[in-house]
Amino acid sequence: FTVLALESSADDTCAAVVSSDRVMHSNIVLKQNDVHKKYNGIHPPSAIYAHTERMPSAVQQALLHARMSMEDIDGIAFTQGPGMGGCLAVACNAAQTLAAALGKPLVGVNHMRAHALTITLTEPDPPPFPHLTLLVSGGHTMLVLVNSEEEYQMIATTADEALGETFDRVAAMLGLEWGERGLGAALEECASSHSDTDADDYDIKMPTMLPGQDGFSFCGLRGHTKRVIQTLTKREGGQLFQAAAVVQLTDKLARAIKTCRRSAFWPKAIVVSGGVASNMYLRSRLHFASAAAHAGEGEPAPVYYPPPNLCTDNAVMIAWASMHRFLAGDTDPYGLRPLPGWKIDLQRSAQEVVGQ
Ligand code: ATP
Ligand code: FE
Repeated sequence: FTVLALESSADDTCAAVVSSDRVMHSNIVLKQNDVHKKYNGIHPPSAIYAHTERMPSAVQQALLHARMSMEDIDGIAFTQGPGMGGCLAVACNAAQTLAAALGKPLVGVNHMRAHALTITLTEPDPPPFPHLTLLVSGGHTMLVLVNSEEEYQMIATTADEALGETFDRVAAMLGLEWGERGLGAALEECASSHSDTDADDYDIKMPTMLPGQDGFSFCGLRGHTKRVIQTLTKREGGQLFQAAAVVQLTDKLARAIKTCRRSAFWPKAIVVSGGVASNMYLRSRLHFASAAAHAGEGEPAPVYYPPPNLCTDNAVMIAWASMHRFLAGDTDPYGLRPLPGWKIDLQRSAQEVVGQ
């Protein structure tokens, strides 16, 4: 079964072709760095126009790279939510119009579930359900128990902003430029540039956020970073922030593993996904969290990451997250609306009732 998927929830215009035998035939990601650079952040009206201009070309290129025509496509998927309403509407409209005109089945996908399920495509031997997933992206920071492709249980979320957003705002504070891969990646690059000192060498204490609680919080850390960077180089400031942010992730992940164990569920695998999961420093530290949480009791759960280019937004993950529904014949009617606030643990029908 071959799926063409469209994604436009934030600032990347994406189209991809993926088949049920796990082959990624194409993966087109048209970044809008050129559009948003001057705002040092996503400018929503410009994002909507850019998606509208670029989506036809993304679809054309996805088919071209896959060496396919619409005749080879068995189903069409798109990101229905969560995301920015006007942005979501572009893929929603394009996908449904294509599906209706060509009489193809349609599936609307939850973007965060797609981030979570990417690992089940990229790992030849995927982690079994249920597993514990840390989703760290531009709009979300949460720990979720993934029981199946359709069943998610929220363990912890952020009390204020998402870590990806904090990375972006701290990078802007440090005066970093929106590079090829965005501000968050620019911060990582700056923090890992060569020097003789390391974050551990500075005599500056960074705050521990919400100690003793399951949830995340990044506003306080951002405020503190703003104060301490006055006397530091960009590299030092970047390193201090990144190290403190990752300590919070490892702490909360270790707590979540313990919480799951108390409720008699022993996580056999930890999955980390979303844009911030492409950060190599974070990857190097999270392994310790799993080991620490298991100290002395059984084997530490292995930590899985999708390849960095599939951690940030793409349509491959949307195609893959729709596959089990297409294969089960569980498809959607034409005429769906975007669901900008669609929560990962709510079924679509429940989300429609609580509003968008
Ligand atoms: P969401 O998935 O929550 O709707 P989004 O789709 O905008 O949000 P993603 O594409 O998953 O987010 O991730 C983008 C975020 O990841 C940005 O905030 C970006 O700064 C951050 N990011 C990307 N690469 C890195 C990196 N190497 N280090 C830290 N942060 C990064
Ligand atoms: Fe995303």
